[in-house]
Amino acid sequence: MSQEIASYTQVDLPLLKEKRVSLTIKREELLFPGISGNKYRKLKYNIEAAKAAKQRTLLTFGGGFSNHIAATALAGKIYGFQTIGVIRGEELESKPLNHTLSKAVAHGMKLHFVSRAAYKEKVSPCFLGELEALYGDFYLLPEGGSNDLAVRGCAEIINVQDKHFSHMALAVGTGATLAGVAEGAFPGQQILGFPALKGDFLQKDICNFTSQRNWRLMKDYHFGGYAKLTPELVRFINEFKRTSQVALDPIYTGKVAFGLLDLVRKDYFPSGSHLLMIHTGGLQALEGMNEKLKKQGSELLL
Ligand SMILES: *Cc1c(COP(=O)(O)O)cnc(C)c1O
Repeated sequence: MSQEIASYTQVDLPLLKEKRVSLTIKREELLFPGISGNKYRKLKYNIEAAKAAKQRTLLTFGGGFSNHIAATALAGKIYGFQTIGVIRGEELESKPLNHTLSKAVAHGMKLHFVSRAAYKEKVSPCFLGELEALYGDFYLLPEGGSNDLAVRGCAEIINVQDKHFSHMALAVGTGATLAGVAEGAFPGQQILGFPALKGDFLQKDICNFTSQRNWRLMKDYHFGGYAKLTPELVRFINEFKRTSQVALDPIYTGKVAFGLLDLVRKDYFPSGSHLLMIHTGGLQALEGMNEKLKKQGSELLL
């Protein structure tokens, strides 16, 4: 798709010096502006497959703030596909569309709103048949874009420049990105996944995507669940941006950075460890999240 030049930022904090641990951020969010870092990786081989199958339409699923919906809409525009987004929550249709969804529409995506109950049945043959009757033939991208082709794309996040890191950390939604990184990692590297949501289902899902066992999930940093924020997290993200010049998103990467530094504080990593945090993107969600925080009268994200 585009040329892929890796970019890194070294984080400089007194805590890291004190613990003799280095922290580098791999700036995947800069990879493809508008297509959030890992969502680009996940789409890459799917778009090739859709083209090879002579499909003209991509259909996929997501919530109202979904980075994957945003990425698919833009990728469709760039690579010449019609796109259809099946969106969880009928109520989102009647309100003025939020930032993520109005941008998706601007990029040509057709939105198909369904109730939360209907959304649960989204991959049933009956529902897919209905969609086919409405929209014709399509290439189906699963929720979050997560399938084996996505895992293959995410394995490419890691390259030879990353060989000297002892640990790698990244956010987990469906786990396909973690599985790809686990596949792409070098022997001896440990991968820490930080789930952005509550629940025990992830472990099994990830095992279905990879047979590697070089990873583990750090489950204490979801801040109450998917897209849940606390004032402490917002403060952390804003402070992190001031000190390191790296913007984090509140749903995924902010929680990873918070968790990683908390683990450093708790001496989880041996002195001399070299940590690589993979910035998976997600910054398009900031605007929508700030709309929400503003209504609550809370501190906004920078
Ligand atoms: C979607 C997303 C993730 C989660 O990726 P999975 O492969 O579903 O685990 C992580 N970070 C960001 C910024 C994302 O948009």
